[in-house]
Amino acid sequence: MEAKVKSPSKPKMDDTYIKPISDWSVYKQRPLVISGPCSAETEEQVMETARILAATGRCDVFRAGVWKPRTKPGGFEGVGSVALKWMKRVSLEYGLPVAVEVANQKHVYEALKYGIDILWIGARTTTNPFSIQEIADTLKGVDVTVLVKNPVNPDLNLWIGAIERINKVGINRIGAIHRGFSCYENELYRNTPKWQIPVELRRRMPGVPVITDPSHMSGRLDYLGEISQKAMDLNFDGLMIESHIDPEKAWSDSKQQIHPGSLVSLLDELEIKRNAPASLGFSDTIEELRDQIDIFDDQLMEILGQRFKLAGQIGSKKKKLKMKPLQNDRKEQVIARAVERGKEKGLGAEFVREIFEIIHRESLNRQIRKMRSE
Ligand code: PEP
Ligand code: MN
Repeated sequence: MEAKVKSPSKPKMDDTYIKPISDWSVYKQRPLVISGPCSAETEEQVMETARILAATGRCDVFRAGVWKPRTKPGGFEGVGSVALKWMKRVSLEYGLPVAVEVANQKHVYEALKYGIDILWIGARTTTNPFSIQEIADTLKGVDVTVLVKNPVNPDLNLWIGAIERINKVGINRIGAIHRGFSCYENELYRNTPKWQIPVELRRRMPGVPVITDPSHMSGRLDYLGEISQKAMDLNFDGLMIESHIDPEKAWSDSKQQIHPGSLVSLLDELEIKRNAPASLGFSDTIEELRDQIDIFDDQLMEILGQRFKLAGQIGSKKKKLKMKPLQNDRKEQVIARAVERGKEKGLGAEFVREIFEIIHRESLNRQIRKMRSE
């Protein structure tokens, strides 16, 4: 007789509920601003950064990394639990809610023991559902705010899955931090934004506030303003900006941290067109749809730039091989391939042909210029 195997019963899930950001005690107005050093280094550094940030009156939450996940061994891995006492001092002396990164059960226990207000989950941790589940299980029945960074790889479902795991144990003040995605190619930013991913996250989870982290996206100071502006144009809810009293001497992420005193000028330069927190309801107004169009136009430019760069390299090769710039058969092949691909995307053959005639002409010009200049 065949043994009857009882299939395990499905776990019962509670209905998920996410509190709008306007009901979070730390929220005053858009953007919600989270700032502080990449890493807590010394008590003096933490307290001094917090003192300056609190004095600006523009910082809603003080952040610092206590345990630092490093891509490679040998980097500074954080001072550990000792810094939780310093964070508690910040909260008591400056009245700022405090946030730290947690990556496992031990971190969560320690952070809760010191009354940390907000726990955030780092990009490397979000990639691993085992780690997320371990954190979620530890948080069952706890009243704390949790922010989930996007995973390092551009996988929206992994990000949403992590938010759901945390939400399902009863955490209802939960937000998403968009810090960009790591990319093999040499891109302008340290982590490429792929704005369409948080836009889609907001569409699929309308109640979840999105907080943009321009520091990790940019990897340097130059682009903090433009990234923050883009986040505001997309009607996202907040910004997480790393700050350090002596950025160049920071023990981690020294290139991307601003002086806490510079926070005000960065924020004052932002043009805030809409003031309602986006997470209160995503209505596709014409402005929002246009902002989404701009994302794709920016991507088109990025891709065209990369394509023409390659065309230049082909120019050099053709010169070495003593080839002419134009090979008609190759041109026809490129256009036919594009027409075929375009068809799959619902693009008319005439339209694709016209675009690729122009693209090919520009590629040829690039090649000729390159061949003449060498
Ligand atoms: C950080 O916020 O300092 C950090 C380590 O960020 P991420 O997880 O985005 O790399
Ligand atoms: Mn950092």
